[in-house]
Amino acid sequence: MEPMTGKSDTDPDSNVSCRICGSHRVKNIGRIDPYKEFRFPVYDCSECGCRFVWRDHAIHDRLHACDTSPYHWQISLANRIEELYHRHNHQEIKKILSQTMKFRFIIDKLALLPDSAKMLEIGCSQGYVTAYFLSCGYDITGTDISEAAVSRSGERFGDHFLALNAEDKERCRDLGRFDVIFSIGTVGCVDNPVVFINNLLGMLKPGGMLLFNCPDLQSVRESDAVWAGSPPPDVITLFPETFWKDYFSGPATIEVSYEPYDHRKNVKLMLSRFQPRQNTSPRSIWETSPPPLPSKNIHSRVVHAIEVLLIPLSGRLLPKKRLVYGQFITMIKKPE
Ligand SMILES: [Zn+2]
Repeated sequence: MEPMTGKSDTDPDSNVSCRICGSHRVKNIGRIDPYKEFRFPVYDCSECGCRFVWRDHAIHDRLHACDTSPYHWQISLANRIEELYHRHNHQEIKKILSQTMKFRFIIDKLALLPDSAKMLEIGCSQGYVTAYFLSCGYDITGTDISEAAVSRSGERFGDHFLALNAEDKERCRDLGRFDVIFSIGTVGCVDNPVVFINNLLGMLKPGGMLLFNCPDLQSVRESDAVWAGSPPPDVITLFPETFWKDYFSGPATIEVSYEPYDHRKNVKLMLSRFQPRQNTSPRSIWETSPPPLPSKNIHSRVVHAIEVLLIPLSGRLLPKKRLVYGQFITMIKKPE
């Protein structure tokens, strides 16, 4: 089968422009092959500082139609939250979501929000984070680009969801103004992150807050990798820390923070570089069985033993590495 990527790795770099800023100052730094049928050349842009691949729209439909796709864990999380939601147990919902740093960031930042706040979630997937704020009594609408996700969220949590492509400025304008907008795990997979963030800022009232997380380029560089753990199309842009202030200091004040350092995660990250690759040839997108679990061979047992020994010493012995999805951005909209 012919590769279905929009740009193949044989394209000369001079024809490639940056998907984020449009500059031709881009350099091909490698390639990722997440699936047999899809290959993605990876580029660094020296203008905006982002690392990116060109999106392929065909792959997204394939993954959503496939039970073994990474979207499956979101469904099982939504099932747990749905049950608690109908039992009005918002404390337990908070406890479960707070185990994941990207959800905890949003929940903690909004802990002191006034009851009257009008909220919007962008990229709500199965609706479970919107459901948490609904269970706390807030006026919140969850949105997603996928009609199927919105319809399923509505079945689970009621009529609080609508389909929205947040890269469509006109459509965003129709929704009105909000006190808080948040978006978890979305900016790294949109075609145009600058348009996307500007549209979200446009929907905020002056003084309103925009919260989101993004894939951190520095973390990928520190581990000498070409790309993050999630392949395209889940992640198509990795962002440098400077990007947000460079592009959005006009309309907003910006704070970039990082996931707090954790000894256990740091040791795991260091040792992951020494794990042998289980399967060197990429899977087919048509493969329906789940990928094989890593076998418990001698090597992995040794690595695990080293991990246990290193954790208490990690703070003194190992360089502290950033986590790949650990960049968190808070924007406060300036007066217009
Ligand atoms: Zn660029």
